[in-house]
Amino acid sequence: MARIVVTGGAGFLGSHLCESFLARGDEVVCLDNLSTGAIANIEHLFGQPGFTFVEHNVSDYIWVPGAVDGVLHFASPASPKDYLELPIQTLKVGSLGTHNTLGLALAKGARYFLASTSEVYGDPQVHPQTEQYWGHVNPVGPRGVYDEAKRFGEAITMAYHRAHGLDVRIVRIFNTYGPQMRPDDGRAMSNFIVQALKGEPITIYGDGSQTRSFTYVDDEVGGFLALLDGDITGPCNIGNPNEFTISQLAEAVLEITGSSSTLTYEALPVDDPTQRVEGVGPELRAQESDRAFLLGERAVGDVAELRVDRVDHGDAARRPTAMDAEVSDRDEREVARHRARDVP
Ligand code: UDP
Repeated sequence: MARIVVTGGAGFLGSHLCESFLARGDEVVCLDNLSTGAIANIEHLFGQPGFTFVEHNVSDYIWVPGAVDGVLHFASPASPKDYLELPIQTLKVGSLGTHNTLGLALAKGARYFLASTSEVYGDPQVHPQTEQYWGHVNPVGPRGVYDEAKRFGEAITMAYHRAHGLDVRIVRIFNTYGPQMRPDDGRAMSNFIVQALKGEPITIYGDGSQTRSFTYVDDEVGGFLALLDGDITGPCNIGNPNEFTISQLAEAVLEITGSSSTLTYEALPVDDPTQRVEGVGPELRAQESDRAFLLGERAVGDVAELRVDRVDHGDAARRPTAMDAEVSDRDEREVARHRARDVP
């Protein structure tokens, strides 16, 4: 049994991580300032043995009493809509927040795990993107607040590893979907599902030829745990290697939901990556058995295999997810209240 700190633990990925650690018998200290996360994502964990929630902005100094074996830094606005609305908070949590969480891990002798992103590749000129590719990021564009914060996060994590010998892991996360996504987070997957369920037009940005790949959250989180427990420092891509266009995604959502929503085309956001899919670089290919261990059977196939088991899942009543068509007023008020508190 280990004692694990998860920052951003009330967010989409963080809440799944908290569940996974508790399920395997670990203790979890969940830190979140609830700016984009929500208590609703973790309220089913309150009262479970070993679960503690602390409302805290990790861009400010962090102290956690007692022993800590692992620090996983997942706090950050992560959807383009959120980080464009919260640019300075995003830069702070990726820089100051990463520094503070590294300091906590060092003080406790804990293993450190950084949630980085495929956005470090920017609008890539190399395809697929392997871990060896340095990326093509516009530092002064609107997405730069997220991309550069995460790139800084990787740099300072490796500096702690080299200068202090801190045991670190870095994951580059590709597009992920599933329960506990916010229905209003502005991402393609959540927008399309909500629009399809409401019978509203599906908003395709640009001509829909841009590509992504999507990983079901259970598969993605399984990869995180394997990376955490394994020997690869990283950075390590974890995502679905099967690429498809945003138009294909829209068609798949329409088919799965049986919706008769029409398609509408809107402007492509500035610096929106035109092609993105994870590649496996030579370093990791050389460790194919580790790689297989990381992803194993988990990577889902192509667009036809999108997981739909929770589209009309009963859990939707308990936790707001992108699989719900309704955003509760309570959640909107909660997010607004906490955003107002973290003034840049
Ligand atoms: N997108 C879209 N319609 C939407 C939301 C997003 O066409 O309603 C596009 C977006 O421009 C991007 C892709 O879908 O090309 C994936 O966007 P998302 O926000 O899900 O994640 P990203 O990969 O850009 O971080």
